[in-house]
Amino acid sequence: MVDAPAPLQPLDEDWQRALCIVAHPDDMEFGAAAAVARWTGQGKTVVYCMVTSGEAGIDGMHPDECRAVREAEEVRSAQVVGVDVVEFLGLPDGILEYGVPLRRELAAVVRKHRPDVVITGNFRDTWGGRSLNQADHIAVGRGVVDAVRDAGNRWVFPEQLTDGVEPWGGVREVWAFGSPEATHAVDTTDTFDAGVASLEEHSAYIEGLGWENWDPREFLEGFARPTGSRLGTTFAAAFEVFPMGWGD
Ligand SMILES: [Zn+2]
Repeated sequence: MVDAPAPLQPLDEDWQRALCIVAHPDDMEFGAAAAVARWTGQGKTVVYCMVTSGEAGIDGMHPDECRAVREAEEVRSAQVVGVDVVEFLGLPDGILEYGVPLRRELAAVVRKHRPDVVITGNFRDTWGGRSLNQADHIAVGRGVVDAVRDAGNRWVFPEQLTDGVEPWGGVREVWAFGSPEATHAVDTTDTFDAGVASLEEHSAYIEGLGWENWDPREFLEGFARPTGSRLGTTFAAAFEVFPMGWGD
């Protein structure tokens, strides 16, 4: 007898501002765009920050050309789900390193946008089973949780605190989509189509992957439907929740 998958708890939606920090254009669209569409539809503000421009992501396209193509695709896919601000930090795709320089960049973004919630992608070693995660995702996720704490400490990266920039310790939780250790989820039934349309904006990237007969809707349904079963909805997006207060 196989155990039923564990139920997922509803995510807290009592917040106003979210900052999504991910390694690559397309990361949000492969895991969380339908959830973003739900939240912007509720009147919340969601901002995207791309640590790289995904310029090393298309085998047949030189990074100098690819960078602009992928940034444009990301801006369009963000607009589809109600996100008007997309920042690109311009760090090198494929070779990101976890460490103080990355934390410094990310802390500055957190201090600038002052979010209640920060969203990133799965930064566990695997996607579950033996399917290994990618190095940039792991570096960014680890950097995000540390930078959220750094942002609140005025003695860490104090050179950033000029021209009215203040420490920001208001991030209550970091959420990681796509995590094999997800504990929470949000109902995406009504915004699932927007999530599909958002992913479809990455046409140059998807073409570059060369997956034959690959269908974005079918792919996203393959995750959203079983996640929905665990939440008690048709579709859902799952997140691992990291409380950022001390003692939580
Ligand atoms: Zn990625």
